[in-house]
Parts: sequence; structure tokens; C-alpha cells
Amino acid sequence: MIKAITGTNDILSEDSYKWRELEKLVNEIMSLYNYKEIRTPIFEETALFSRGIGDATDIVSKEMYSFIDRSGVSLTLKPEMTASVARAFIEHSLDKKQSLSKLYYISPMFRQERPQAGRFRQFHQFGAEAIGSQSPLLDAEMIIIAYDIFARLGLTNLKVKINSLGVTESREVYKEKLKEYLRPHFNNLSEDSKKRFDINILRIFDSKDDRDQSIMKEAPLLMEYLDDVSLEHFNTVKKVLENSNVPFEVDPKLVRGLDYYCHTTFEIISGSVGSQSALCGGGRYDGLIEQLGGKPAPGVGFAAGIERLLLACKNENVFDVKEEPLDVYIILLDSELKSDAFEAMLELRREGFKADADYLTRSIKAQMREANKFNSRFTLFVGGDEYKNGEYLLKNMSEGNQFLFKTSDMKGLIKKIRE
Ligand code: AMP
Repeated sequence: MIKAITGTNDILSEDSYKWRELEKLVNEIMSLYNYKEIRTPIFEETALFSRGIGDATDIVSKEMYSFIDRSGVSLTLKPEMTASVARAFIEHSLDKKQSLSKLYYISPMFRQERPQAGRFRQFHQFGAEAIGSQSPLLDAEMIIIAYDIFARLGLTNLKVKINSLGVTESREVYKEKLKEYLRPHFNNLSEDSKKRFDINILRIFDSKDDRDQSIMKEAPLLMEYLDDVSLEHFNTVKKVLENSNVPFEVDPKLVRGLDYYCHTTFEIISGSVGSQSALCGGGRYDGLIEQLGGKPAPGVGFAAGIERLLLACKNENVFDVKEEPLDVYIILLDSELKSDAFEAMLELRREGFKADADYLTRSIKAQMREANKFNSRFTLFVGGDEYKNGEYLLKNMSEGNQFLFKTSDMKGLIKKIRE
């Protein structure tokens, strides 16, 4: 028996409706903010991600699904979207089409992580990227979009955390200070953090190791080294968030350890989903486009995990959407009338009603059970004495009342169902 790969999920029909509704909401909100959808291939050249995300990150060093294809090229299933969007931006010279590209996506992503609740190997993200402007309003807009979507889902147990990484120059000064502080503690750091010391020192703040954490408690903070321009950028973001009624807290330890990240970083955390609590993360990446070979263009974006969002919704008992019921279920009383019933059903469907019938020549009782299972608003009986008299019997399932219509009077029948 072949099973789905560990860390991947089938989304069965009882859930896929919810997924579609969530996607509808994402499309709606993105369109209110005038973001246009972009779809990129599932796989890309591996070099895009090693350059675009960075060799020192966990994603690139440990988690990518990479393979050599038959022509000897190393390809990778996309682990995130920002690098792909940046590639497409450069490849199609989107800066020439629009001075500011506001793009969004909904897509599966692939990372070989250790599967657990809320952490999978194929998972799904939606997110947005705005490329072409340094305005702090866009940093705030990203946070507001994510927050609006989460709020529309009904989630309340949320915490928005923001921080500023400032610009490269002040960050370099700070990194030296951090190194100075950590040097005497170096031997007590975890092996992972020892490696990060040289290649990605800010990421030591992300360590879950107890010893690392207690050392980092006293570490100097980047916030204390921000230059005036960075502070002004950050203050604007905070002010806009305050005026937009998005509650947030500043977490000076929230870092993104890549050189091209700058200014705002943020995360929205749910208190309802256990240890994998980050629902989304994002930030500004003014150096990325250049790093990937394009003309320098500032950018900012975020990505949210759909599985985690739906888990948060389930745990908070919100967004409990149900699939729309059937409009009509046809009950066939006389199997010889199968094709007449099928034609009536087709006419209803082409009028825009959700209609179905039994294809298995089952008993009337079984057909009624089926109608109930689909929560059908109406049943239409085809056969029996009524049909001999040239009539259909239509039954309103919730009210129990019944109506007779001439088989030639589909218009009357349709009017009744539409009421
Ligand atoms: P990242 O691209 O790592 O900043 O992640 C953005 C969001 O994607 C996270 O906040 C999660 O909601 C989601 N996410 C990341 N990795 C996984 C995963 N392995 N399984 C499920 N969701 C994930």
C-alpha cells in the first residue's frame, strides 16, 4: 500500500471547501489593497535560493528539496516565494511596467523539516511583496494586510511583534559590539550558535538552546545602535500601525539574519496553536534584487502559513464555514425514467442550481438519505402517479411543504427553487 509522503497532506473534500473560502478571502483583501496575483513555477534553479535566501540559513543548508534533473541541472522545489518573485521581477523587467510592483501569491512550498503539528514538508503560504519603494507605509501595509486577513477569519488570540534591523552600516557596527559581548561566552554557546558566530551572528537570538538564551538575555540590542534615518523609518511604521488599530509590541530580539534584510521585520504569533506559533513573518529586503543580479530596487513582503492559520481557526472555533447545500436532489421513483430525470437535472444545473441524483439505482429510502446527507434544500420526485399525470413533485426539505409542477413547466419549478 503506497501512502502519502510523511509531512504532506491530502486535503479532502470536507476541508477543501474551507481552503477555497480562505483563498477567496485572500484574493478579496489583496485586491482591496491593489496587489496583483503572481504565479511562479514550483521548481527553480537551486542557485536562486542559495543566493536569494542565503547558504547560511536553515532553509538552504538543511531543508531544501533539491535534485539533479536529467540534463544535470540542480533544481529545487521552492521553499518560499520571495526569491522567485524577485527573479520574475528582474526577468520580466517589471520595474519598467510599473514603478511599484505590488504582487501577491498563494502557493505550495517545500521544506524537509521534521514534521509535527503545524509543521509540514509540503505546506502552503499566501503572501505579498511590494518592490520599488522604500516607503515605511508599505512596511506597515504588509502588517495591516496580514492582520486584516487574520481578523476577518475571526482570530483574536494574536500577537504582532515588530522590530527594526536598521540599515547595513549601523548593523555592521552593532554586529561588532555583539561579537565583543559574545567572545568571552563563546565556549558556552551551542554548536549551532558557534557556527552562527561568524556567518550569521544575529541568528543566535533565534536559538532555542537554554544556555544560548541565557547568554543572549544580557546581549546588547540592535535597537540601541539604530541611526536616525532607521529610527525615523521605524517610528513611522509604529505610528501608522497605532493609527490603524493594529496592536503590536516591539521585540528587539526579532531578527532576520540575512544581510539584505533591513528596517522592519515582523511576525504575527498565535496563542492558539502550540509550539509552531508563528502564523506569518515578513520584512524589508532592500538589497535582495541587487543580490540576484537586478538593478537595485527596495522591497518588502510577508508570508503566512495556511495550515497553521486553519489550525488556529479550528482551535479558536472561528471560520467554521460549511459548504453550501445542494439546491435539488432528484429522487427517481421509476428507474425507466432515468434519462428524463437526468435531463431535468441538467436543465436545473444549467440554470445555475446545484443539483444531483442517484447513479446507482438505489432504493427510494437510500436516495432520501443521500438528499439529507447533502443537506439538499429541495427534492424533486420523478415517477409515480404524478409523473403519469405529467407532473413533478417538488418538496421543500426544511419546511416539508410540497408543490406540483407540470413537467413542461420548468420555468415555474425554477421560480419556486429560486424563491
Ligand atoms: P517563513 O517563510 O519561514 O518566514 O514562514 C512564514 C510562515 O509560513 C510561517 O509563519 C508559518 O506560518 C509558515 N510555515 C513555514 N514553514 C512551515 C512548515 N514547515 N509547515 C507549515 N507552515 C510553515
